[in-house]
Amino acid sequence: MSTVAILEPESGEHTKTSLLVSRDTWEGKTFNGDWIDASDALEVREPATGETLGRVGLSDPTTMTTTVSRASESQREWGSWTTDRRAQVMREAARLLEQDRAAVVDMIVRETGGVRGKGEVEIQGTIDELYHSAALLIQPEGELLPSPNPSRLSLARRVPIGIVGVIAPWNFPMLLAMRSVAPAIALGNAVILKPDPQTSIVGGALLARMFELAGLPKGVFSVVNGGADVGEALVAAKGVRMITFTGSTAVGRRVGELAGRNLKRVALELGGKSPFIVLDDADLPAAASAGAWGSFLHQGQICMASGRHIVQRKVADDYIELLAQKAARLPVGDPFRSEVAIGPIINAKQVERVHKIVTDTIDAGAELAAGGSFDGLYYKPTVLTKVTGGMPAYDLEIFGPVAPVIIVEDEEEAIRVANDTEYGLSGAVQTGSLERGLRVARQIRSGLVHINDQTIHDMAGIPFGGSGASGNGSRFGSTTNIDEFTEWQWMTIGGQPTIYPF
Ligand code: NAD
Repeated sequence: MSTVAILEPESGEHTKTSLLVSRDTWEGKTFNGDWIDASDALEVREPATGETLGRVGLSDPTTMTTTVSRASESQREWGSWTTDRRAQVMREAARLLEQDRAAVVDMIVRETGGVRGKGEVEIQGTIDELYHSAALLIQPEGELLPSPNPSRLSLARRVPIGIVGVIAPWNFPMLLAMRSVAPAIALGNAVILKPDPQTSIVGGALLARMFELAGLPKGVFSVVNGGADVGEALVAAKGVRMITFTGSTAVGRRVGELAGRNLKRVALELGGKSPFIVLDDADLPAAASAGAWGSFLHQGQICMASGRHIVQRKVADDYIELLAQKAARLPVGDPFRSEVAIGPIINAKQVERVHKIVTDTIDAGAELAAGGSFDGLYYKPTVLTKVTGGMPAYDLEIFGPVAPVIIVEDEEEAIRVANDTEYGLSGAVQTGSLERGLRVARQIRSGLVHINDQTIHDMAGIPFGGSGASGNGSRFGSTTNIDEFTEWQWMTIGGQPTIYPF
């Protein structure tokens, strides 16, 4: 198979060869097993420079039924493949990503505006999702049940749901798509993916190319490109039996309503406002380092970001000083062309939103210890102090590089403030005492919690998810994927027909 020149950036400064990053493959096209010319295109731009990275085909929501009917036919065949053959395709997809790691990471960096380390974490997480999905296929497929009739066998077996619609966000577009796509496909479903329009290449087209080369039968994986109209058409489409949505709480509510009305299973992974508690016996330099990472990684554009630093008064001044020093030192700039810690915010609207939350919080009585300004899409790492309940930075998910600090008197108040949110995704506590750490962590209402660490962690092998405004209790990862992406069928088997009285 020949390699294809990639990227051909307008500035012409970067060339590598890659099987997967192949602009010609998806230019102006959507994917339903074959690459289909679209009448309109969606431009994908690099946030750091505004440079065009590609133009994928824009999907017409009225053609969703055609995509669904092809997926439906293909799923019947795919679901009947042996588990060995299905696992082999997933492993081959992982191998292709591994082989093209450098070029794919470049593309993740350019498309999402995240630093290289974030891109490397994202590709490794995606590869892990594929391997873990292959490993799901050595798990038991059901249970042998007690049978009141000794001549009949009674069993419960797991069967694929059918067609799963996946709607993904732009912040970790490849990983957050693949954590649903990979297990759903491995377990015998067909998937129709709708990436965010801002990241339709690494979040969609490139994955289509990967599955095409890995030998997945045509139609088992499709990509539809577009915004809310295409997303809603997917949620409402007859024949799509399940939706997994990762994105904002506001859109998640809408998707949940639509899915409910159409009697579909729905998994919602939504926003967060995760507490990062610093108790008075914590190692402060380590806590400030973890806190800075938790709030500033990927410009704070992570659902699990440390959204409220809840600090005991005794150590608050020292902690704030250390955190503010770190914020002031972090280099900000184009992550593809320079060594920086902080890249651009995804778009200008989001910069405005971040800045409004910061300025409204200051107007409400908070103080600025670092940052608080921006240049274009580059927002300086910001530390806000004297934040109290009712201020925008206390209540709202910011999705920007902002660390609001809330001072509390004792453990009890720290726990109360930690749980004073409608979200429930992640949490962390820093302390010199394991006993205190456990006592506090056990009382934080969240799907994930860490002692002496920060709030941003995910792995393919853990049950990931939140509650309340962070999600409806779905869990991705590990064998919980079997619960999410299959359904039970009770089957009884007898060698002879059962005889009835009439
Ligand atoms: P978003 O809700 O604006 O968009 C997410 C996806 O939904 C995109 O593909 C978008 O095109 C699509 N969409 C928009 N309107 C739709 C509609 N009416 N019907 C169907 N689809 C629609 O979110 P975003 O701005 O891309 O991402 C940021 C948000 O995602 C943050 O709130 C963040 O916390 C959350 N997030 C959550 C997790 C998690 O695992 N819990 C992970 C990453 C991001």
